[in-house]
Amino acid sequence: MPVLVMKFGGTSVATLDRIRRAAKRVGVEVAKGYDVIVIVSAMAGETNKLVGYVDETSPLYDAREYDAVVSSGENVTAGLMALTLQEMDVPARSWQGWQVPVKTTSAHSQARIEDIVPDNIRAKFAEGMRVAVVAGFQGVSPEGRITTLGRGGSDTTAVAFAAAFQAERCDIYTDVDGVYTTDPRICDKARKLDRIAFEEMLELASLGAKVLQTRSVELAMRYNVKLRVLSSFEEQSDTAGTLVCAEEDIMESKVVNGVAYSRDEAKMTLVSVADRPGIAAAIFGPLSEAGVNVDMIIQNISEEGRTDMTFSCPTDQVARAEKALHDAKARGEINFHDLIADTNVAKVSAVGIGMRSQSGVAARMFKTLSDEGINIKVIATSEIKISVLIDRKYMELAVQALHDAFALEKTG
Ligand code: ADP
Ligand code: ASP
Ligand code: MG
Repeated sequence: MPVLVMKFGGTSVATLDRIRRAAKRVGVEVAKGYDVIVIVSAMAGETNKLVGYVDETSPLYDAREYDAVVSSGENVTAGLMALTLQEMDVPARSWQGWQVPVKTTSAHSQARIEDIVPDNIRAKFAEGMRVAVVAGFQGVSPEGRITTLGRGGSDTTAVAFAAAFQAERCDIYTDVDGVYTTDPRICDKARKLDRIAFEEMLELASLGAKVLQTRSVELAMRYNVKLRVLSSFEEQSDTAGTLVCAEEDIMESKVVNGVAYSRDEAKMTLVSVADRPGIAAAIFGPLSEAGVNVDMIIQNISEEGRTDMTFSCPTDQVARAEKALHDAKARGEINFHDLIADTNVAKVSAVGIGMRSQSGVAARMFKTLSDEGINIKVIATSEIKISVLIDRKYMELAVQALHDAFALEKTG
């Protein structure tokens, strides 16, 4: 029988009532003749609560134990979803990541899926089970420890299952009815897109649009998974939501198709480091070993052989970054006068594949921000995106102004 993957995010399984609603949707697909793999997230707020417990217990935690704790939210929903389906007379059972198994790397708290062994679930489908409910976000390392895939990782679980089972489609059910030109929660002029190209979705996701986890888009692109984002609260239909697809399948496109933001950014500056060959490696090597995800980097001009080095990273990695840099200083590998962390910044980005062939986008973006009196602290560009770091208090304003400037609310 054809396989369908249906993923339900936190708000879609936030209460027993919502789990029942989600289960009914699954029942509809089962009745159409699909064997269904349901991927569930933890109930809304649960993962944050678990992360809070870990932070309070041990600020620079052992990531293996972090994973043991934060993966547990998904186990509850998987069991409850299976029970709900059974109550509806749909043959279903739950699976935790290690039971499938979902094999991952050992990079705890941000592990990557290496392999999904489909045999156990296939055997159960062959015996008449119609729904495999799988706990999203988790897997097992080669050492046999529980891993998690990074925040929002259930999306990636879903796409990886769709690829492993050659599913007809991977439907991501969430609390918005598709992918928008920007987050509809902070810009009421945001427009829903019927289709979005993999490349653009990849950029938007990696720049903060949390509607899909970045890695899920990467996998969908690589394995050509038919990926759809839709609301779990609206009428079910085969054409609802947004289809994430190849660039060739999109009829109309603008220069900029989306604006993304990332609220929890921090800007760190190493004041007065020696400007010598190898200095960047001496700084960013230890940061990478400490698991700090460095994003933007700028090195100021050098004066008398010394320079300032600025980089951005997620706010919750500042403590780790500080420790790594102070340790490197203590070992004599680097030398700096001061380390300043600015945790009140946000990143705002404009994304569009049209930028490849059209110039002037950066100029328009900078002019728009300047008209609003917003100071740009750091700039980064790539082929299809421009990002700026600004004071967090201007983030919403910047998103709305850019959405207007690039005429994203209008069609055509
Ligand atoms: P889930 O719990 O279902 O995984 P998430 O909260 O992870 O849901 O992702 C959905 C949220 O993503 C939406 O509620 C919305 O606020 C946010 N979002 C950010 N950017 C966008 C965008 N461009 N389009 C749609 N939603 C977006
Ligand atoms: N529950 C996890 C999180 O909140 C995974 C997910 O929802 O995708 O990050
Ligand atoms: Mg999510």
